[in-house]
Amino acid sequence: AAKLTGANRSREHCTELDATAEHHAELAAALRRGLDRGEFRLLYQPIVELPAGTIVGVEALVRWHPSDGPVVSPVEFIPVAEHSGLIIDLGAWIINQACADAAGWQDRHGDAGPRVNINVSARQLLDPDLPGLVADALSRHGLAPERITIEITETAVFAGGVALSTVRELRELGVGIALDDFGTGHSSLTLLRTCPVTTLKVDKSFIDDLNGTAEQEAIATSLSTIAATLGLRAVAEGVETREQADRLVELGYRYAQGYYFARPAPAADIDAALTAPALVA
Ligand code: C2E
Ligand code: MG
Ligand code: MG
Ligand code: MG
Repeated sequence: AAKLTGANRSREHCTELDATAEHHAELAAALRRGLDRGEFRLLYQPIVELPAGTIVGVEALVRWHPSDGPVVSPVEFIPVAEHSGLIIDLGAWIINQACADAAGWQDRHGDAGPRVNINVSARQLLDPDLPGLVADALSRHGLAPERITIEITETAVFAGGVALSTVRELRELGVGIALDDFGTGHSSLTLLRTCPVTTLKVDKSFIDDLNGTAEQEAIATSLSTIAATLGLRAVAEGVETREQADRLVELGYRYAQGYYFARPAPAADIDAALTAPALVA
């Protein structure tokens, strides 16, 4: 077979790019329609206090239920929503819905109602309207700011500038700020000096091998010590086994989240769990 000429090669390369771009454009359009048709839902995954397993918070996790197919994971559509800019409108819907659900729990359970964590992406943090949007949602639903925590990632704030000043404005509203997937970025410790963080969510990768190596345990212990020293909460992410949960208690962790305690579930299931005994006997 003849070798590809330079021209052929670049044409082939273009076709691939076009196919990806076309796919993204189609998915972006479908997401837009999905938002207009109300096809997004929030699930909530409990954040528990150790060792009892009492639910103290929940993390809102978005799902897309297209009318013509199976549920789509945020891992697939959030990057497309970010790239197309739809994340601004989708994010506004998520913030409003999460605040509505948080207000319901506040009404029905008072202080025992869970605080609600809301993920925001890098693109949302670059939007100077974000703090105003959050403030509006809080007042629309009569919600105290302390009942909400905004989850951000290190990479989203690392660049500084608008994102960092947006985080500061959010914190000034009185909402909590959690650093998600903590320890996986390149700026973790530097960021703690400049960013008004209230919670560290210690990444699942540090929790996975807890009963494996001494190194792994040393890192997990150090992260909880850093949090305690700075007056921050540390939440262990992705706890899947009883052994991990037990070890976390020994290492000084007070908060955890993961399939071992509960999977993400609809808001009504959280109400049921709140009135049931603690998750861990
Ligand atoms: P994240 O914010 O770090 O959320 C935690 C993810 O880990 C969730 O996946 C959750 O279901 C999963 N998880 C929790 N416990 C366990 C466990 O024990 N084992 C394992 N293997 N996984 C566990 P999910 O819901 O698929 O969300 C994936 C990512 O998508 C989130 O990571 C977050 O970055 C993004 N995302 C989800 N919802 C939203 C949202 O409303 N807005 C934005 N901007 N991003 C979101
Ligand atoms: Mg998160
Ligand atoms: Mg996380
Ligand atoms: Mg994560």
